[in-house]
Amino acid sequence: MTATMPGLVNYSREPFSVELREVPLPKIGERDVLLRVGAVSVCGSDLHQWRGSHSWPVNYPCILGHEFAGTVAETGARVSCFKEGDRVVSETAAVIDESSPLSRCGMYNLDPTRRGFGYGVNGAMTEYVSVPERCLHRIPESVSFDKAALTEPCCVAYNAVCMNGRVRPGDNVLVLGPGPIGLLCAVMAKLSGAGRVIVAGLPADHFRLSVAGDLGANVTLDNGIVEYINQLGDGLGVDVAIDASGASATLQLALQTVRPAGQIIKVGWGPQPMQFSLDPLVQKNVTISGSFSHNWPVWERVISMIVSGQINLDPIISRVAPLPQWLACFEKMERGEYVKAVLTP
Ligand SMILES: [Zn+2]
Repeated sequence: MTATMPGLVNYSREPFSVELREVPLPKIGERDVLLRVGAVSVCGSDLHQWRGSHSWPVNYPCILGHEFAGTVAETGARVSCFKEGDRVVSETAAVIDESSPLSRCGMYNLDPTRRGFGYGVNGAMTEYVSVPERCLHRIPESVSFDKAALTEPCCVAYNAVCMNGRVRPGDNVLVLGPGPIGLLCAVMAKLSGAGRVIVAGLPADHFRLSVAGDLGANVTLDNGIVEYINQLGDGLGVDVAIDASGASATLQLALQTVRPAGQIIKVGWGPQPMQFSLDPLVQKNVTISGSFSHNWPVWERVISMIVSGQINLDPIISRVAPLPQWLACFEKMERGEYVKAVLTP
């Protein structure tokens, strides 16, 4: 008889094809560890897969969850750096081609064959997950699994703002979209020395905008964004606009509000075509940078910032709930009533 465990399975492309099922415990390869999940946070991409509104291929049926931390329960024969009992957090690139040119440069996050937990291979919304040793990072006792699970979205924001972005002390930075990634981008902009961080959303985002204030945003707006930016400073626009919304139309707002020779960082994405001209990009001599995922050095840096308390995750975690309460967490996150929900198996 094979042992089973409850896992939150996304079983088809149809909307709402997610349910808690009894699934077999994973088998590990010789370079993998069996990780006992301590906590897994819910990502906007999990909500998209639940809704069936995602734009990436999913290997159905697949256990959701790619933002997770836990304890090493078992190690494969060729695992050398980790042992049973180690507290760890895992990166998301579960499958990569280690010989691809990008992987060899340390940019395995951009390797086209990359497959991640929660859509490409079974994720962590369950009790045990098989993880390649190369994905793991150690975390100290002082950091809870609940917080460690949020390392991944922090890495997304760090990569966007601090690696692909060029925020300088005193800059005016506009963040469009107060979802978890937008809020964490605001944190990174503040830590980079931005003079004024403005977080903008919709009237329905009032809770998430209040969290932006708790995290140190100087201004939060739910309307009148262009008018506000036009009267700011010399009236020429913000130095850096960060598009952290899932709607393509937000890029137009970024183009309207960024100053000439400024920068747009696009970290939010959605499959809709754009219905506007990119001429302002040329006329204003704007740099636009996409930002996707993260890699090893970003993880090490962000973990050290969580450990030191430089990144305060308390305002971001709206709820920690046991796995069977996943549906309420998904619904409340989707409605913006929670910033982040964290599930514990
Ligand atoms: Zn995520």
